[in-house]
Amino acid sequence: MSRLVQLGPLPVASERPIPETGPMTDGFGRRIEYLRISVTDKCNLRCVYCMPEEGLPWLKREQILRYEEIAEIVRVMADQGLRRIRITGGEPLVRRDLPALVRMIRAVPQIEDVALSTNAVLLTEMADELRYAGVDRVNVSLDSLRPDRIDAISRRAGSADGIFRGLEAAERAGFAPIKVNCVVMRGRNDDEVADFAAITRDRPWHVRFIEVMPTGENLGVSADEFVSSDEILENIGRIGDLRPVAGPAGNGPARYYAFDGAAGTVGVITPMSHNYCDRCNRMRLTADGQLRPCLFGHAQTNLRDPLRRGEPLEPLIRQTLRIKPERHWLVQGSDAGSGGLLALSQVGG
Ligand code: SAM
Ligand code: SF4
Repeated sequence: MSRLVQLGPLPVASERPIPETGPMTDGFGRRIEYLRISVTDKCNLRCVYCMPEEGLPWLKREQILRYEEIAEIVRVMADQGLRRIRITGGEPLVRRDLPALVRMIRAVPQIEDVALSTNAVLLTEMADELRYAGVDRVNVSLDSLRPDRIDAISRRAGSADGIFRGLEAAERAGFAPIKVNCVVMRGRNDDEVADFAAITRDRPWHVRFIEVMPTGENLGVSADEFVSSDEILENIGRIGDLRPVAGPAGNGPARYYAFDGAAGTVGVITPMSHNYCDRCNRMRLTADGQLRPCLFGHAQTNLRDPLRRGEPLEPLIRQTLRIKPERHWLVQGSDAGSGGLLALSQVGG
């Protein structure tokens, strides 16, 4: 995180007026009711589009928010209109006793929905406990249907086995809907999009194809392997007609389609080819307690230290809303617009 500019008490140039009370609204009139919480920057995989093989400089234990601190931030934001939470990472399941955090978040009465993003490697052992603790929904990253490719993309031999077992455990535990996220890369998995889509005819999965976004550590993949959603949909169209549908609950940025009579849907997440920032409804909390108004913005607000000093958080949250940018300015193959992020694992995607 060292390249990110941290906000101090001074206003920044791009501040815009916002409502100072009531539900959180940013300077472009967007209602913010969704928080993505990264509980760790560490991960048990090293996906080629995300983290470098050797990992990143990890946060120190004392820098990372304790579960009680995360729950306090959720309580304060819930009083300002926060309604939905996603727990993410790095890989959230590598952090000890995650169900304890889920229970704390669930105890906040205004929170209506708690979801989890995971690579599923550790989900088999934890699915039932997480469901019981109050996780409603899971998104599982699955970048190929072929074990050798999964192992190669994740740079961890044997990960495919854990992921497939984790997906089965998620279905058995009753998580619904199950969303499967696939980052499409030319020459690594782009020939599988139709096979992925075909699964949705019989299984109630919502398979979402994500366009790779550039960060400091993946510029080669971003420059050489980008595949647009238009190309993905065209390839899927060869095996059947897709019609636009509303898609599952969750209010994310995906556009959804379905084959006639299919149990699930096919979605595309198009940060590069079709900007959707005008519909943004979220902020992000990093594992070390930085509130980020935009995944790729340069600015973020340190909530951790004021929280530890017993200072009120509401003014800092309003300040973060004031500096939420209108949109990202990502450039394929360049880190010019990625706000100093080395990898999405630093923020949670
Ligand atoms: N470890 C968990 C996982 O993989 O689901 C949660 C964190 S991961 C950063 C969240 C999502 O971001 C995953 O679906 C992952 O595929 C996606 N992701 C990571 N880096 C990306 C990139 N550069 N471009 C597009 N999606 C990316
Ligand atoms: Fe880990 Fe998720 Fe990043 Fe893959 S995408 S390296 S599983 S944080």
